[in-house]
Amino acid sequence: MTYVYAVVSRRSNGVSIGINLNPNHACNWRCIYCQVPGLVRGKSPPIDLERLRTELDRMLEDVLHGDLLENEVEPSLRRLNDVAFSGNGESTTAVEFPEVVEIVGAALERHELVGKTKLVLITNGSMIETPRVQQALRRMAAFGGEVWFKLDRATKEGLSLVNSVKMDPADHIERLRLAASLCPTWVQTCMFELDGVPPPEAELSAYLDALRSVVEDGPPLLGVMLYSLARASHQPEAPRLNSVSREWLEALGLRVTALGLKVKVTP
Ligand code: SF4
Repeated sequence: MTYVYAVVSRRSNGVSIGINLNPNHACNWRCIYCQVPGLVRGKSPPIDLERLRTELDRMLEDVLHGDLLENEVEPSLRRLNDVAFSGNGESTTAVEFPEVVEIVGAALERHELVGKTKLVLITNGSMIETPRVQQALRRMAAFGGEVWFKLDRATKEGLSLVNSVKMDPADHIERLRLAASLCPTWVQTCMFELDGVPPPEAELSAYLDALRSVVEDGPPLLGVMLYSLARASHQPEAPRLNSVSREWLEALGLRVTALGLKVKVTP
């Protein structure tokens, strides 16, 4: 299939159906830990909506009523956990993103999955200011969806180093507030060692200050997902990167919890 795939996730204790709107491996960011092979700078190509609708229906039929899970998945994991926009690039760069959300939402309704199966948008958040993306987020909320919004660093230098974007961190925090005002939102943060050293305290303080500012006067957040490098980077910096330890990540998690936020730590 071009746009739809299924993966088994032990972490979520089930099967996830993924929707990839970037079969061209294009993203408007270049995170140095990105695991997309052959990543290029750019945006989604035009999406063939009919093809996506057909692929999703076929996948849902196979997962829910066919023998796909019986043949491929061990018994304890034979359940559909979520449908996620999680592709080889930034999904919201697709011009057709609002139409795609409608197609996915209608499929969830048809299969009576709304409220039972999570609909997730994994995003770097860069396109939230675009009216069509805001419209799509409102609709995601109506389908019981969640946004997982990337906030790795909160200084200009950190964003440039880690995500390869020139951006004022205050602008990105505004995007986070906007996302959370439109659809329930988790922050997702990747922490890792670069050249054997974890992020410096100045970066961590800026990050915690940014979260605190949203806690104090922003819309509520669902919480923060803290994780490290689950899979190898496909970027030139890969040899310079290492996971941080569980203890390091949990210590940061305690500092986030102290802000009044729920935290999920995945080393
Ligand atoms: S935003 Fe996601 S897809 Fe884009 S470069 Fe970063 S990790 Fe890769």
